[in-house]
Order: sequence, then C-alpha cells, then structure tokens
Amino acid sequence: MYSFVIRDEGSSVYTAVAKCLKNSDRKKDWKKLVNIDSPQFNVMFGERSKLPFGRLGHSAGLTQVVNYYRGSGSLCRKTTLVSTLKKYCFTDGSELPEWVPPSFIIYPPGDTPSDKEALTLKERVKSAKRKDEREDFLKKFQEYNGDVQNIWIVKSSSGAKGEGILISKQAEELLSYVDRHSQAHVIQKYIEEPLLLEGNRKFDIRCWVLVNTNFEIYLYKEGVLRTSSDPYNLEDLNDVTGHLTNHCLQEQLSSHYGNYEPGNEMFYKEFDRYLQDKYNTRMSDSILPQIKAIVRQCFQAVEQQISTSGLNYKSFQLFGFDFMLDSNLKVWLLEINGSPASASALLSDLAEGLIQTAIDPIFPPSDPPSTINNNFEKM
Ligand code: ADP
Ligand code: MG
Ligand code: MG
Repeated sequence: MYSFVIRDEGSSVYTAVAKCLKNSDRKKDWKKLVNIDSPQFNVMFGERSKLPFGRLGHSAGLTQVVNYYRGSGSLCRKTTLVSTLKKYCFTDGSELPEWVPPSFIIYPPGDTPSDKEALTLKERVKSAKRKDEREDFLKKFQEYNGDVQNIWIVKSSSGAKGEGILISKQAEELLSYVDRHSQAHVIQKYIEEPLLLEGNRKFDIRCWVLVNTNFEIYLYKEGVLRTSSDPYNLEDLNDVTGHLTNHCLQEQLSSHYGNYEPGNEMFYKEFDRYLQDKYNTRMSDSILPQIKAIVRQCFQAVEQQISTSGLNYKSFQLFGFDFMLDSNLKVWLLEINGSPASASALLSDLAEGLIQTAIDPIFPPSDPPSTINNNFEKM
C-alpha cells in the first residue's frame, strides 16, 4: 500500500489527482494520510512556496516523491525566466532566444536595501548578482523608435492572472511604474501584431507540460486558447479586456464574456478549423513544432540545476506554458507557470494522465488502469 499527503487543498489539479488515487481502480493501492506532517508518505502534493524539501527522502526504506522541482523558480518567476534564458543562450547574458520578446529586469529602488552595511553576506551576494537592466532597456527602446508603435508591457515578477501589468509607449511611464512598486518587474516588448480571431480578438495559448521524476518531458495533447471578448485596439492601451487575455479578467471585466466561445475557451480542434480556413495550415504543422522546440530548450536551460537525479527524493512537476502567436504564425513564449490550474473540461483527464505518466511508473498499481491515458505525449 502506498500513501500520500495533500498539503495544498487549494490546487484544483492536485485535488483531482488525489481523488483519482482514491477511486475504485486504485483505492486498494493508496491511502491518504490525515496528518499532513507525517514523514511516512510516498507522495507529497505540497504547497508551492513553502515545501519542506529539506525533510524529504529521510524516511528509511521509503521512496518519496514530491510534485515540485525545488529550483523551478528559475523558470517560473518572470524575472528569473529572463535571466535564466539570457544566460543559457549567450554566455555574456546579453540576449534572449528569438522566441522571447526582448525583455529587461528592472528593480525598483525599494527592492534594494539602501543600507548595504546591514546586509547579511547572503543578501550581499544576492544583491551583487542582480543586474538592473534599465540602461539596456532604454537603448533597445530607442532602437525600436520610429519602426513600430514601440509599445512595451511591464509585468510584476511574481504577478499572476493579469495583475500588476501596464502597457505603454512611454519608457518613462514604464520605469516609474516599476519604481512605485517594491517588487522586481520585467519590461517586455509588446507583441503589437498578434494573430487575431474572428471579431479581431486576441488570445494566448496555455499548454500543460509534465516533467517526470527522470526529467523526461511530456506535452499534454490538448491545450486551450484563452480568448478575449473585446476587439483588439492599439489606439487604447488601457482597454484591459482587449489586451489581456487572462480568463479571470475577461470574466470579471467584459460584458461580452462568453459571447464568442463558452467561457472564452477555444480548444485545438476548433482553432485548427480557423487555421485551415484562413491560413491553410494546422496546429500540428506550423504551431506545435515551434511550441515543442521552445519547451525543450527551456528545460535544457535548467536540467543540470534542478533535476533530482542523485538526490534521495524525487520530483515531478506540471507546468503551464503561456504562448502567443503573431500575425506571421510565429510562436512567442510569454511566461511559465509552476502550479497551473486546468481548464475545467480537461481536469479529470489531465489528472488521470498525470498519474499514469508520473506516478504509476514509480508506484505500480496492482491492477492496470481500466483505460490507458496517453494524453501526455513524450517529447
Ligand atoms: P500572468 O498571466 O501571469 O499575469 P502573462 O505573462 O501571461 O502573465 O501575461 C498576461 C497576459 O498579458 C497574457 O495572457 C497576454 O494576453 C498579455 N501579454 C503578456 N505579455 C505580452 C506581450 N509581450 N505582448 C502582448 N501581450 C502580452
Ligand atoms: Mg502567470
Ligand atoms: Mg499568463
């Protein structure tokens, strides 16, 4: 009998995974431990930010697995994603791969303690490693001047769900926005000419990627386009629902929410029809190959740093990649989320696929699952 603890009841995905482990197929194999601090678990579905990594792998004779990679912040915070990819691509850390919009890390004055003497050694090392890139941003900003509209977007490093974002054509406005906050931000080139859907609406694409305990990468076969309910309008950068496609913003702020697609969600099959009608192509021909190449490179950038091979516990993790397409069908990476929610229509399939891909191989079920779920496709 295997056992698991669930320490993050707020996660819809891991609540569904826990439910699958206790359903009729597997219930004779798994028990849920009531004491979430018990050291006697096989699998811990932990809380993202305060996992007790130091305590893992110390129970003699127990194989222990946790649903996060300890170093995944190097991809999943917006500032560290930029620095990780800059270091990975060019040893001098100056450039990003061509599938990330030009991006710069900006630290507000409030984020750098003024009294350097008072810092601990660890803090001093951390603060010396930081490079505020406002000079580089201003240089790039000048380069773009006159060319396009020169619109940029500023996002808070740990912001989520479209919060803490400003879109502007003015460098000063973007920088002073950061300086009014206490957190690091990324200033990123705005994708000015996105591919638009019927009704001139913008969208982004959410893909789910599972990295198993051997650091093998799996892409979930279905993804979701999160669509905007209002037309895209470059003349009004303050029109939140025309520019930011986050589901919760659309639901809260647009009176047209759900008018085009139920829940402002479009799945690949429907998008394929649109691509075929308008561009004579399909996701699998022109979009997915780009997505896969990007996902691969992101994990190559961090594998050595974060893989758990050689440690006395193992990790797996589900990631949510957010992409945009421009009008030339080029794929751009916007961000990577370390604890993504699932579209509700996909939730139970995603949970079963996750178990079959990342958990069953380590803790084999006594009866094979009644339906084989191959929806996480090895890349
Ligand atoms: P989060 O979802 O964590 O708030 P994202 O980076 O995904 O942060 O940005 C939120 C939304 O803002 C995206 O879904 C997209 O609609 C829009 N957006 C983000 N970055 C860009 C960009 N560089 N160009 C155009 N639109 C963007
Ligand atoms: Mg996010
Ligand atoms: Mg996002």
